[in-house]
Amino acid sequence: MDKTPIVIKDVYELQCLVKTQKNHGKIIGLVPTMGFFHEGHLSLVEKIKTYCDYIVVSIYVNPAQFSPHEDLDTYPRDLKGDIEKLKRVGVDLVFTPDCKSMYPENYQSFVCVRDVTKPLCGNKRESHFEGVTTIVAKLFNIVQPNIAIFGEKDYQQLLTIKQMVRDLYFPVKIISGKTIREDDGLAKSSRNSYLSSEDREKATIIYKALIKSSLEVKNGNLKTPENIKIFAANIILTVQGAVIDYLECLDAQSLKTTESLNKPVVLACAVFFGKTRLIDNIIIK
Ligand code: AMP
Repeated sequence: MDKTPIVIKDVYELQCLVKTQKNHGKIIGLVPTMGFFHEGHLSLVEKIKTYCDYIVVSIYVNPAQFSPHEDLDTYPRDLKGDIEKLKRVGVDLVFTPDCKSMYPENYQSFVCVRDVTKPLCGNKRESHFEGVTTIVAKLFNIVQPNIAIFGEKDYQQLLTIKQMVRDLYFPVKIISGKTIREDDGLAKSSRNSYLSSEDREKATIIYKALIKSSLEVKNGNLKTPENIKIFAANIILTVQGAVIDYLECLDAQSLKTTESLNKPVVLACAVFFGKTRLIDNIIIK
């Protein structure tokens, strides 16, 4: 049965409500998002529901994690549709703060996580992760959840949040949800809506490359991270118009370069199809 969530914009109103729930002994779960929901987002809600009694979903397109030339203005938004979808999965509260309350005049404080944010997206999207950690730290302070969930699709983001929580002693347990994909393997993403039908078809090459590379490792045909990276890049580049922004095979825990496959590695990439930049990854054990 559908359950209509309470929708709250105001920070203090939200804090009051959540505090009451905590006082009643409820375990609070938080799902931070930028909205325009697909099944990936909803799977995080479904998963965290199994750990919590009271679910808060935040919807906020955070300007601090977009560089000036990026798609902040055109980022897809559909608050009404999102709330309808949340009704079906059943959440308690939707937090929709505005920029005035998140970054008021004379705002000055940012959270910076160092090493793990340096490669991959961090190397390509200036100050992106500082924007992410800042907004997530703010959400943690506002909502004070017991548990928060992040998608493995944004693998570097997940590691960064875990690092921040560990370093700054946030009293939050971080769990992750696996990447939900379309039937042809393309990772679900709000940005898929930008793709022309031709590019949508071409974009399937990303997951094909990740999966084939992983299989070749299992079959013993690829023996170093460098070989994996070259193999995957060559597959992606068979598709006309696919432009690799980065493609790396790094230690899956530290995101440092490694020369061996003794420990799990992550094969992660960002690929442009036209102006649309898609990211994906696979862990190879
Ligand atoms: P976003 O709205 O893009 O900021 O994403 C909100 C959360 O959903 C993040 O933790 C993402 O990692 C997660 N997410 C995005 N796409 C997927 C997907 N295809 N499968 C699972 N989780 C996802």
